[in-house]
Amino acid sequence: MSTTLAPERDLTALQDRIALIACGERPGKTKSCDGCSRKSAALLNIASTGAADAVAAAICGTGNRAGCYDCTDKSVKIVRLYNGETV
Ligand SMILES: [Zn+2]
Ligand SMILES: [Zn+2]
Repeated sequence: MSTTLAPERDLTALQDRIALIACGERPGKTKSCDGCSRKSAALLNIASTGAADAVAAAICGTGNRAGCYDCTDKSVKIVRLYNGETV
């Protein structure tokens, strides 16, 4: 175990948070469902490209190029979160 002054970003925690947002974050809910947690690695990958619409489509899972209003809202949060913003 070593400590550094500039820690690596904790991608596992980030991925968990992404899964929760994709699943539908609400007070008292601390874990995403299995389906969303399986998707979260892919969502993290897409978020790293900054393409919120692609993230939305992946969350929505309809096969359309864009997600619905709800998923678009989630995708914007996920991309902002990936960029280190507080959402
Ligand atoms: Zn879910
Ligand atoms: Zn949707």
